[in-house]
Order: sequence, then structure tokens, then C-alpha cells
Amino acid sequence: MPSFGLGRALVGDAGYNKDPITAQEIIDAFRDAELVAAAPDETFTGARSFAEAMGEYQRTHDEHALPMYELTTHVEAMS
Ligand SMILES: Cc1cc2nc3c(=O)[nH]c(=O)nc-3n(C[C@H](O)[C@H](O)[C@H](O)COP(=O)(O)OP(=O)(O)OC[C@H]3O[C@@H](n4cnc5c(N)ncnc54)[C@H](O)[C@@H]3O)c2cc1C
Repeated sequence: MPSFGLGRALVGDAGYNKDPITAQEIIDAFRDAELVAAAPDETFTGARSFAEAMGEYQRTHDEHALPMYELTTHVEAMS
């Protein structure tokens, strides 16, 4: 599911939710918030379009989320 749309962005647990067993969730939430906060700045200063800036947020989010989600399910299965 896209993590953003017109006038909205999903960060932290709203972006994806997993068991807190790996204690990575707060780091994820801060990373998401920082990336999302940079996107409007880049848009308003003309550095790149909103879609480009948020598209990079989506890619970065997904690159981090999937491996951590898989690790979490692996740790859960072993516990
Ligand atoms: C038992 C437990 C232990 C955990 N242990 C760890 C840990 O050790 N390390 C770790 O990194 N993470 C841990 N986590 C996970 C971590 O707490 C969350 O992943 C993190 O807080 C997510 O941050 P967030 O900002 O996305 O959401 P939240 O911290 O849930 O913030 C969302 C906020 O939005 C508010 N809100 C909701 N609906 C509305 C609305 N309609 N209007 C206005 N406000 C609204 C809520 O009241 C809340 O304050 C744990 C979670 C649990 C449940």
C-alpha cells in the first residue's frame, strides 16, 4: 500500500505494524517522520516535485521495512 497520497503520509506504526520484540519501532517512527518532514521542504523550495520527494520516502520506507519485518517474524518464530 502506498505510504502517501494527496495530503496524507503514513509514518511509524501507521505505515506498518509489527511485534515490538526487536525494539526497532521507535527508530522506524523517527526515521519515517524525518523523511516525510523533508519532502514538503524540498517541494516548496523547488528542489523536486512532491511526488518525487514522497516517492523516495516510499522507497526508503519499504527498503527498511521489509527486512526488519522478516527479521521480526524470524525472532518471533524462535521465541
Ligand atoms: C508493549 C509494547 C512495547 C514496546 N516496546 C518497544 C521498545 O522497546 N522499543 C521500540 O522501539 N518500540 C517499542 N514498541 C513499539 C513503539 O511503542 C511503537 O512502534 C511506536 O510508539 C510507534 O510510534 P508512532 O508515532 O507511529 O505511534 P504512537 O506512538 O502510537 O503515536 C500515535 C499517537 O496518535 C494518537 N492518535 C491516535 N488516533 C488519533 C486521532 N484520531 N487523532 C489524534 N491523535 C490520535 C495516539 O493517541 C498516539 O499518541 C512497543 C510497543 C508496545 C505496545
